[in-house]
Amino acid sequence: MAHPLRIFKKNFDVREALNADRDRGVSVGFVPTMGALHEGHLHLIRQAKESCERVLVSIFVNPRQFNNADDLNRYPRNLEGDIKKLEDCGCHYLFAPDEQEVYQDEVKHNWNFGEGQRVMEGLFRPGHFEGMLSVVHQLLNILQPHHLFMGEKDFQQAWLVQRLVSRFHTATRFHLINTVRESDGLAMSSRNRLLTPTERQIASALPNVLFSLSEKTVNVPKNERLQMAIEQLTNAGIRPEYLEIRNEVSLNTLDQWSSDGGRIFFAGFVGEIRLIDNVRVQ
Ligand code: AMP
Repeated sequence: MAHPLRIFKKNFDVREALNADRDRGVSVGFVPTMGALHEGHLHLIRQAKESCERVLVSIFVNPRQFNNADDLNRYPRNLEGDIKKLEDCGCHYLFAPDEQEVYQDEVKHNWNFGEGQRVMEGLFRPGHFEGMLSVVHQLLNILQPHHLFMGEKDFQQAWLVQRLVSRFHTATRFHLINTVRESDGLAMSSRNRLLTPTERQIASALPNVLFSLSEKTVNVPKNERLQMAIEQLTNAGIRPEYLEIRNEVSLNTLDQWSSDGGRIFFAGFVGEIRLIDNVRVQ
């Protein structure tokens, strides 16, 4: 190991380390996470390492962005395992604060980034985005990184954070990183480890349906196509909450199937576990 991982729990301490970096002109890349790290997170860290001299990961399971107490309680936590992974991939800093630390000095905002905040996850998880925006805003205020790396896996979240950054954190550059998938195509997620083996098997139908939906250029009206896919998912044992095609720049819904900036968005349940995914229309 070329350098040890430095772990911080306090705003003051992490700021001191980052200020020293900034004073020396060292670039800092930031990857916010909720822990239970997997290859998707590590991919973000590796991408950050390519363009930044120091990489900082945060692990904070933000209670405010959970609209369901059971989901928060069962969210996987494994700090020891995460530290090992961060050390192995050469991450420089870990910031693992508690709730009191993150939200001290908070100036409350009424987050409103328009319709894109209210659809899909905004509709099905009331309060989720407001909680997510609050914590990302706090973390960016505390850390003031040069670069911020987030995953396309949570596309609507990234869409909102891009707007947060361009309004409030103009010194930070936003990077959207592609989704890492399991060998059967299922998008990696901390929640996948909560699936039973049978549920995991069922979940593998999801990428199949999404990718064939994104590829086929058959002459079937949009709504019929989506309806057929919903039936395929339901028959496989998946319970969709939504399946939509939207423009990836505006997040406006599309009247017709379009490969020009069209993106398919899914959320739904396998057993008790809620999964989300999205793919670009080819
Ligand atoms: P989370 O810990 O789930 O809040 O995710 C932290 C960051 O990792 C977010 O920017 C996610 O979009 C990103 N991420 C989660 N899963 C993946 C994946 N499979 N591939 C790439 N990035 C991911």
